[in-house]
Formats: sequence, structure tokens, C-alpha cells
Amino acid sequence: MLVEVEGATVVYRRGNAEFRAVDDVSLGLERGEFVTVMGRSGSGKTTLLNLIAGAQHPTSGRVTVDGRDVSSMSDRDSSRFRNERIGYVPQRHGLMPSLTVLENVLLSTQLYGRGKDPEEAQDLLDRLGIGGLSGAFPREMSGGEQRRASIARSLMNGPDLILADEPTSDLDRESARAVMELLSRVNESGTAVVVVTHEYDAAVYGRRLLYMESGRIRDATDRLESLRSGMAGAFFGLRRRFAGKRKGPCRS
Ligand code: ADP
Ligand code: MG
Repeated sequence: MLVEVEGATVVYRRGNAEFRAVDDVSLGLERGEFVTVMGRSGSGKTTLLNLIAGAQHPTSGRVTVDGRDVSSMSDRDSSRFRNERIGYVPQRHGLMPSLTVLENVLLSTQLYGRGKDPEEAQDLLDRLGIGGLSGAFPREMSGGEQRRASIARSLMNGPDLILADEPTSDLDRESARAVMELLSRVNESGTAVVVVTHEYDAAVYGRRLLYMESGRIRDATDRLESLRSGMAGAFFGLRRRFAGKRKGPCRS
């Protein structure tokens, strides 16, 4: 098993009230899987990705990636582990403003003493349709172009696992398709991929579908076929069914 999430809970406090952004989530991901996570805004998707990336520790529960307990690693160890093994595409692009696109893509290889490979970086940028922007700074680019640069950066170290948080959200249809097809090809070469998305078009690339609501997660792979055939209604039916199965309120 590449990723094991065991009873992970993240409790946040807002004012005097505590609530569970992630509520007792257990989940396993095999090597080479392609999983989509859907769910409304605020349902805990980004928090869950952060837990898997080791960028955030759970309040309780445990997360291991390739046998390493990322839920208790120091910040320093987890950033190194993430840089070497995980490609993380954050919801906001997270590019360094003072570096060009090419320098941004090469940054993690440089930080951890791997050989830089500007040709590979340029090739990734070409495949994402922004090859001409390698010398540009993030502020000179549109949101969609920044997003694609951030995806190129995540692929640079040949990770075992890609965690992509709404990677197509600010892209036009064609760029969105290019991004999802690139992620599919990366997946075909053996990298596990987790994509959080709101978009049906992006969701259908996954072979497993998970649905999050109020911090809880359930498998909804049985709805993938209907999504593929364009029945958005299937998705709303999913919400209702999920609501019916919940064990009671998990947010205050
Ligand atoms: P999603 O990605 O599904 O939109 P998030 O994981 O970003 O959801 O957030 C889940 C819930 O946790 C939301 O209600 C959000 O407002 C809340 N939240 C996220 N980060 C914090 C934080 N640092 N402190 C308090 N609440 C937070
Ligand atoms: Mg989010």
C-alpha cells in the first residue's frame, strides 16, 4: 500500500466552536492508482490532501506514505520527503515570484542536491503548452498558465504520488483536458495520482471516485459510469444518498 490513512481527524476551532474539517477518515491507496476526490467547497478535501502530503498533522489518527509516518514527521523531514517523493499541486499555484518559470520548475531538484535537468523541465513545460514562457515570471502569466507551471514543477522529480488540488479549476476546456491527459500519462507510467476536483470532465479520468462531505469520505466509484456518460444528475443523487448515510452532524 502506498498511502494509508487511518482514522485521521483534523479539529479546527472557529470562535468558540470546534469542528472536524476531516472526520475519522480511513483510506488506502495502492501504487499506480488514479483516484478522484469530489465534494463541495469546505468539505475537507484540501485538508485531507495536506495530511497525505505531510504538510499538516492530524489532530488524531495516522497517515503513512510508503511506510513512512508523515503524520508525525518534523517539518524539515516532511518537506524533504515531499520534495523527493510527492508531487504536490496546491490549490493556489505556490510559485516563487522572484524566480522564472524554468527556475521554479527546477527548484526542488536544486534544493535537494539532485542533478538539475533543464531539458526535462523545458520538455514538461512544452507538454503543458507553456514552453514559450520558461523565462517569464509568475506575475507576467495568467492564472491558468501559473497553474500549468505548478503542475510541471510537481512532475519534475518523477514522484511516486501526485496530489493535485483542483488542477483544472482556472483553465479553459482545452487546457484542462491537456492537464488531465498529462496526469493520465504520468499515471500510466506507474505514479499514483489523487485529483481533487469540482468538474465532472476532470473527475472521469480517475478509476476510483471518493466523495467528501463535512469531513467524512465515502467511496462513490459506482457513480463513475454515469458521470462518464454525462449524467450530472447522478452526482446530485450521490449527495442525497450520502446525506442519508451520515451518522449525524459532524460539524458544530
Ligand atoms: P475544501 O478543500 O473541501 O474546500 P478545506 O479542507 O479547505 O475544504 O476546509 C475544510 C473546512 O475547514 C472549511 O470549513 C474551512 O473553512 C476550514 N478550515 C480550513 N483551514 C482552516 C484553518 N486553518 N482554521 C480553521 N478552519 C479552517
Ligand atoms: Mg480546497
